Amino acid sequence: MPISSNKRGHTHALIKLEGLSRLAETMGRESIQLYIEEFVARLKKVMRSNDRLLKISPAKYCMILHEAEDRHLVELAAAKLVRVFDLPANLLGSPMYFKVRVGFALPSQNASSSSQLVKIAETALRKATAQDQPFLIGEEGDQESDVRDPALLARIHQAVDRGEFLLYYQPKFSAAFRNIVGAEGLVRWHDADEKRIRAPYEFIELAEQDPVIETLTEQLLRIAVARAVHWDSSISVAVNVTPRLLEARHFVQSVADILDVYGFAPPRLTLEVTERGHLPPAAFDNLHAARELGVVISIDDFGTGNCSLSYFRDLPADQIKVDLSFVKAMRTSKKDNAIVRGSIDLAHHCDMQVVAEGVEDEETADLLTEMGCDVLQGYWFDKPLPPEVFEEQYLAGLRQTDEPDAYSDLL
Ligand code: C2E
Ligand code: CA
Ligand code: CA
Repeated sequence: MPISSNKRGHTHALIKLEGLSRLAETMGRESIQLYIEEFVARLKKVMRSNDRLLKISPAKYCMILHEAEDRHLVELAAAKLVRVFDLPANLLGSPMYFKVRVGFALPSQNASSSSQLVKIAETALRKATAQDQPFLIGEEGDQESDVRDPALLARIHQAVDRGEFLLYYQPKFSAAFRNIVGAEGLVRWHDADEKRIRAPYEFIELAEQDPVIETLTEQLLRIAVARAVHWDSSISVAVNVTPRLLEARHFVQSVADILDVYGFAPPRLTLEVTERGHLPPAAFDNLHAARELGVVISIDDFGTGNCSLSYFRDLPADQIKVDLSFVKAMRTSKKDNAIVRGSIDLAHHCDMQVVAEGVEDEETADLLTEMGCDVLQGYWFDKPLPPEVFEEQYLAGLRQTDEPDAYSDLL
């Protein structure tokens, strides 16, 4: 995953919270969410003021330790990181322990860019897992490439062939009028072997590192469009697209073909592209091409990446989605409040629309409305819902035609 270039050399730490897929079988989604939030809160406790935290997936973060180039300092940081997870989280009355593993990469003469350091840290993390160590400091030259869990990857390939992936839909509302304006499609895996619905954190990061993500995303786009074409024409649908897919022109062609086949109006389709990492120049061109089709480009997780203001200025986008970590904290933290307010003003001055995700209470919804935010999404309104439930609940009065048949026809 390319992160920005890094001239001064800062140590990179890849931190992974383990055991989530096992927990998913015994705990509810809500408890898992709280557990992940506590994990992130504790990571923040370890950070110094110039350190940064980038989200890679819900259970994996990259901490950039500002100007920590010395092995001794990094060992101290490692000890701190391990210690901060000694005590369990107290979730809904029961203690939940953390299993956290860290891979470090120290900058060196030959490896100082963020992307090199992330690769080294990735290898260190993998070795730490294999050796069951809480952390490992990677060495220069330690940059094996990829595949961490070949068995799971093979199962993902098989699941794509079998059409086991589906979308849940989370509604989005106009801040000013509080009517539904769209829905975000969030992938779920109906794992037939394990007989359960698997959440994205169990597989999406692995899928995104493999070419299978292209087939999967196209499949999900087709599912979303085939479904939404039957919704009221005022309701749009969003699909998440990893920036990597935008490196190739043919992805944009696939989007154009899908719109064409279903006769779907392009402005009703939003592509949510995460802000994490810098897009290569080819991706910029392809984003332009996608916008020319008329689809809406949204910058997801806005504020959590490593982007400069000039990078932001040049991004061909119509919308930003302010990351839920800021939205959730904005009522209690002055700084988070300022970040949200500032992001809204910045986006509006750049002629972009603003969506706030992670709206969990009425006060936050009202505050965001006062700040001029355009669209609201979050648990206070509703969670991501299975397609039939979403349509029954939100579109029954609006739907134009009958819902389409089973997904298998569309894959
Ligand atoms: P995201 O795109 O930022 O999606 C928002 C996540 O926040 C969703 O989790 C959603 O269920 C959750 N969420 C929504 N409202 C609230 C709220 O009020 N409070 C809290 N605490 N959480 C809320 P989900 O569905 O587990 O998806 C997690 C991530 O997986 C997504 O983050 C996205 O990065 C990735 N993902 C999901 N679907 C796809 C997909 O089709 N393709 C790709 N490439 N990635 C996907
Ligand atoms: Ca999203
Ligand atoms: Ca997001």
